[in-house]
Parts: sequence; structure tokens; C-alpha cells
Amino acid sequence: MKTETTIQGLTASLSPARSSRKSIGFIPTMGNLHQGHLNLVREARKLCDVVVVSIFVNPIQFGPNEDFDNYPRTLEQDRHLLAEVGCDIVFAPSVEQMYGKQPRLTNISVSDITNDLCGLQRPGHFDGVAVVVTKLFNIVQPNFAFFGQKDYQQLAVIKQLVRDLNMAIEVIGVPIARAEDGLALSSRNGYLSEQDRQTAPVIYKSLKTAEHDLQAGQALSEVLAQIRASLTDAGLVIDYVEARSPMLQKVDQFDQDVVLFVAAKLGKTRLIDNLQVKHSA
Ligand code: AMP
Repeated sequence: MKTETTIQGLTASLSPARSSRKSIGFIPTMGNLHQGHLNLVREARKLCDVVVVSIFVNPIQFGPNEDFDNYPRTLEQDRHLLAEVGCDIVFAPSVEQMYGKQPRLTNISVSDITNDLCGLQRPGHFDGVAVVVTKLFNIVQPNFAFFGQKDYQQLAVIKQLVRDLNMAIEVIGVPIARAEDGLALSSRNGYLSEQDRQTAPVIYKSLKTAEHDLQAGQALSEVLAQIRASLTDAGLVIDYVEARSPMLQKVDQFDQDVVLFVAAKLGKTRLIDNLQVKHSA
């Protein structure tokens, strides 16, 4: 496995694959890798000849009071894990390598679906994601790109971006990897105190209860209220608990498949999760 820290180095490393028309699979990450990230790499390994993983903590997708400075950076450990799951190239550029010294004057904004859920709580976040993913796509020029359903709204934004701008990339969504107690794996789980880590699985439990209650015929508004009550009782501070269609449209009843979304703070740590609930007509 190679590690490249410059765009030039990465381009040189990918050149033989490109000239022999090998398929390139790409997984953008911010590092501090766990089984959720590694599942994306495993999927890419199954489908693609060459697998590239980027590790880049992207400053422009963090708000002024968010955790950019403290975000866990564990490159050596990440490299070992990636080698074990068959990654071919790690791209770990510096901020300067990605953004250069000149000011950036171009922005990329996906409208509508970003004015909701995490977009309301984190203004500018999805613009920052759209810019860095577009830059990484242009640098890596992959055939396939893999994103986790954990960040469901992000996945929808990237799919929209790729469609709207005719990027020749197939975007593949990969299911959420969870700990045994149901907590969705996240690099931010490491911020949780031992006690908060014991509490955190209430998010997934309340989503699973909601799924059961919806499928048993309970009204959507009541089910959402129950999730909110369970989270608040457990000591979480809710950002949002919402239901949307799979395409992120507002829904007021359970008459089609829905996705239940939670964002909540436990101590200082913001956790997100979601669950797709089937409506079997
Ligand atoms: P991040 O490093 O948090 O930017 O995540 C990089 C990629 O890994 C994104 O596509 C995430 O959606 C995905 N990812 C993170 N956690 C999980 C998880 N628990 N299950 C599946 N995918 C995940």
C-alpha cells in the first residue's frame, strides 16, 4: 500500500491504473478509521481494481465552534487498518496541498436538501463537503465512490451533485456499521465519557422501537414524540428528530417508506443516526 501526500504524487501513482483502464474506487474520509469506514473499503475492494482512500480533515466543513482543531488525527493507526483491508493507495494531503495559498473564490452549493436537518444546525457545512468532495473527485478521478448511509443527508447531497454536474462517477451508499449495542460507529464516539457511552445506544433503541410502532400502525407524530421523550429522559439534548421520505421530502404520515433521523448532543458530543423504515403496502 502506498501513501501519497501530494496531488502530483497521487497522480503519478494512479497513472498506470488509468492507462490500463483499471477501475478506480474511492473512499473519502477524515481518518480515525473504524469498521464503518473499513466496510466502505471492503465494498470498494469487491468492485474495483484499484482502491484509493483519502484522509483529510476538511477545515471548510467545520463551523467556528465545532471540533476541527480537536478532531482525532491517527494516521499511522489508520494506515495499518487500511493495509489490512486491501487499500492500494492512501491519499493524506495537508490543508495547504488541498487549498493552496491563493484564496478560493468558487463555492458549490446544493440547494433544498441542504436547507434541512444537519444543514439547519450546521450552516455552510454541506457547501464545505461539496467543495472538498468535488476537488477530491477531480484529483482522484474515480469510477466509483463509496459513502456511508450513516451520513444519509451527505450521501443524498453527493448523489445530487454528481447528477447535476454530470460527473462520471457511480456513487454507492453503504449501510451503517454499528457497535454490538447498536450505537452507530463514529470517530466522534471517542469523545464520549464512559457514562455517556453507556447512554448513547438509546438513540438506536428508540429508532428501533419507533420502527416497530410505526409498522404496528401508530401515528408518525406520536412515534416521533416518543423518540424525543426517550432521548430527553436519557439526558440527551435534541437537535432534531424528524421523518423524511428516502429522497428527503417532508412527510406527515407513514404511508410510504420513511427515514427517521436523529441528531442529539450527549455532553459536548453531537451524535447522528438514522433508520430506514419500510412501509409494506
Ligand atoms: P468521516 O470520516 O466521518 O468523514 O466518514 C467517511 C465516510 O465513512 C463517510 O462516507 C461516512 O458516511 C462513512 N461512515 C462513517 N461512519 C460510518 C458508519 N458507522 N457506517 C457506515 N459508514 C460510515
